[in-house]
Amino acid sequence: MIIVMKDDVAPDSPEVRRVVEMAERYPDVRTDVRAIQGATRSLTEVYLLGATGGIPKEPFEEFPAVEKAIRIRARYRSIGRHGEGAHAVGFEYRGLHFDQDSLHVFAGLCAVDNPKNVEATFKALQQAGVKTARAGAYKPRTSPYDFQGHGASCLPYVFELAGKYGIEVVVMEVTHESHIQEIDAALRAAGRPTGAMLQIGTRNAQNFELLKAVGQQTEYPVLFKRGMGISLEESLNAAEYIASGGNSKIIFCLRGMRSQLGEPHRNFVDFAHVPVVKRLTRLPVGIDPSHSVGKKAVGPDGLLDMFHATAQGIIAGANLVLVDFHPDPDTALCDGPQALLLTELPHFLDDIAIVREALSKRLARAAEAATAS
Ligand code: PEP
Ligand code: MN
Repeated sequence: MIIVMKDDVAPDSPEVRRVVEMAERYPDVRTDVRAIQGATRSLTEVYLLGATGGIPKEPFEEFPAVEKAIRIRARYRSIGRHGEGAHAVGFEYRGLHFDQDSLHVFAGLCAVDNPKNVEATFKALQQAGVKTARAGAYKPRTSPYDFQGHGASCLPYVFELAGKYGIEVVVMEVTHESHIQEIDAALRAAGRPTGAMLQIGTRNAQNFELLKAVGQQTEYPVLFKRGMGISLEESLNAAEYIASGGNSKIIFCLRGMRSQLGEPHRNFVDFAHVPVVKRLTRLPVGIDPSHSVGKKAVGPDGLLDMFHATAQGIIAGANLVLVDFHPDPDTALCDGPQALLLTELPHFLDDIAIVREALSKRLARAAEAATAS
């Protein structure tokens, strides 16, 4: 059961203490108090854990500071929506707000190769007004003989250049718990000119020890990639591992599903699931058109399949786009064939803006229809 406190009731307030005391009077019940920072308000929730089956909601709802008590049936109790019960709340990081209404484009290098390309990429992002980038340092590769990423050695120049070009958040995959400490140490040494978001790749979607490690720290938000060959339920439970450790700054990212057929795209694009994940969870939902489509095929209408897939995710309400760009894709050390050119960035962003505008019109029309009925 979750006891949702009214707006701005602080986690260490006497009101919350009273709720905790009442809950802990029941045998074998533990509590966990969680503070959630939204754009305009802060929310405190008290989680009742353990033998909560027979506990009535009413005594809690009689407290004036309690908004409501929600009985949780689903397995993913922290990230879940629980029907209409729980609010979708986001988080703030480095002055940016992430929730189920916001949109951020994380564009850049699949794998960092050299300072020159990092600089060219960040510079192009700054010129386009983008403050969020991707830059892979630790690469999980299918073959042990492929480039594995420069690892910790590239972090100093990646973070320094991010600061130089006004990039507030760099998302990068971590494949081992030690990478969190390496990223933290490099950011500290650089004087925190930028921030980091930790990416869990699809291949590590059920690496439970890694999920616990990113969940037990609360400094860095986590971009969790859906597992490519497991059920949605399993991926949501995996994201729950992160939240259950105490870190609620999570974005759930769709990246296409492994299909037996493998054609015409690298993965089967699953962006129709954006509203599904939003309905089931309180998390912002991202899309990765690069790793799902996986090639720069162009349609007879002149638009790249990747542009179309991105548009499909945006029109469905995606909150984050993770996309590969490279100054010279032919020389990229990883995933060159799917990287967009830096000269394509303005068109890519304009296309997103066009679709986003169409989405607001759709939402306004849907709200109108709802009031009429
Ligand atoms: C990536 O984003 O670089 C990546 C490897 O993605 P995924 O885990 O979705 O394959
Ligand atoms: Mn890649």
